[in-house]
Amino acid sequence: MTTVSTSSTSERRERAAELLPATPTGLLIGGTWREASDGGTFAVENPATGETLTRVASATGDDARAALDAAAAAQASWGATPARERAEILRRAFALVQERREDLALLMTLEMGKPLAEARGEVTYGGEFLRWFAEQATHDDSRYAHTPEGSLRMLVQRRPVGPCLLITPWNFPLAMATRKVAPAVAAGCTMVLKPARLTPLTSLLFAQLMVEAGLPDGVLNVVPSASASAVSEPLMADPRLRKVSFTGSTPVGQNLLRSAADNVLRTSMELGGNAPLVVFEDADLDVAVDGAMAAKLRNGGEACTAANRFYVHESVADEFVERFAERMRAVVVGDGLDEGTTLGPLVEAKAVDSVAALVDDAVARGAKVVVGGSRVDGPGHFYQPTLLRDVPADARCMTEEIFGPVAPVATFSTEDEAARLANSTEYGLASYVFTADVRRGLAFAERLEFGLLGLNAGVISNAAAPFGGMKQSGSGREGGFEGIAEYQETQYVGMPL
Ligand code: NAD
Repeated sequence: MTTVSTSSTSERRERAAELLPATPTGLLIGGTWREASDGGTFAVENPATGETLTRVASATGDDARAALDAAAAAQASWGATPARERAEILRRAFALVQERREDLALLMTLEMGKPLAEARGEVTYGGEFLRWFAEQATHDDSRYAHTPEGSLRMLVQRRPVGPCLLITPWNFPLAMATRKVAPAVAAGCTMVLKPARLTPLTSLLFAQLMVEAGLPDGVLNVVPSASASAVSEPLMADPRLRKVSFTGSTPVGQNLLRSAADNVLRTSMELGGNAPLVVFEDADLDVAVDGAMAAKLRNGGEACTAANRFYVHESVADEFVERFAERMRAVVVGDGLDEGTTLGPLVEAKAVDSVAALVDDAVARGAKVVVGGSRVDGPGHFYQPTLLRDVPADARCMTEEIFGPVAPVATFSTEDEAARLANSTEYGLASYVFTADVRRGLAFAERLEFGLLGLNAGVISNAAAPFGGMKQSGSGREGGFEGIAEYQETQYVGMPL
């Protein structure tokens, strides 16, 4: 099926109606699409309307084991496949993702809610992992040397870790899958991918494209399920599994780390965030407000990198809030398929309840609502873009991940205070700093305990950059040169000279 470019709302709806019945809804195991062993399915809903889009096979523990059987059986020959061949498959997959970009974007908007323009942006971002890791696959830093005292010859080589369990969240349905699958393919690992229950369709279409790109049977197996633990528990307990790579919330990551200990699995954990966005008094406020809008409203605020706490120098706070408010008021809330929508729904009803509770809590503690502050009536799961000021440090929205379009602003007076406030969280994923003085920004960066820092920039994720968190935001890095190492073992062979 070739993609159709859709410019008007009615074209998009027509294309979506054709696309849904043509999208795989089964489990991909050993190169074959199949139903769940007990025939079970679960509904995938459109968060903009609450309507069921389709039903998807719900993998059982037996299905998960069958997927690992296939991955384990494919590991030896896949690991021995020349790197260039693996790279070529990724290159073809990159090209297929470009060909089907509109379809992938439509599926993401339908199942996750983000505006179509943002979904197209995710196809670009997510697709880049395929190209980047195609480029990395053939770089081999194996080495041959004599040991320093001259007694041994040493050979150090990289090998694939082996079968991996990849668990992805719903907020970036394509990019979270490509960010794991592409380096695993590049390194020669086989995989069982469990996409999020709320957004399995994009991953299933992506898996179909990987098969079309020539990935051998059993290398990538996909097991969506209504019950994540039904899939993860038997696999984590199986000694054939060698690694788990997880993106999602910190509590689930902590549980997976506990069960990974039993088999001493390799782990990569991309967990929650609570990003500070700091605006110094010398910042260009237009740049800062652009950055704030992007860091807050990208993906509707449903991003682990979303700015969660805004600390603005007291001398520019009124001006910053005024300009930020003007931009927030201009946001168009609606169905992501509609032309002109700049903010879609939240992913499910529960998410609206949780955002509303955080705003109510902040207001009860003295925060002032500058923009928004309530739910949007009607079908679908919408919350208004919301700007709060004078938010006290103990408000829950300052300590917990908001995961919605709510920007709480507080002020600071000194750089030391800004650093202390920014670091006052158990999380350490993204952070943002706005200042006209780049030296000051870099010096401030050195004081921050965050894996990523946007300096005068609100969006910095890139396939070529290492992405990951410090503290309770996780361990390991995805993307960049670091990303492939997460899927490689190091083996040393020594022999007498
Ligand atoms: P979640 O932890 O509820 O779910 C993530 C994935 O884990 C889903 O596939 C889910 O089905 C699965 N899962 C849930 N319970 C499980 C269990 N007991 N065993 C195994 N798997 C289980 O998180 P979510 O709500 O889908 O995603 C939002 C969270 O993800 C936020 O905290 C966000 O910050 C985080 N996130 C982090 C990154 C990052 O790279 N650091 C990126 C995106 C999202």
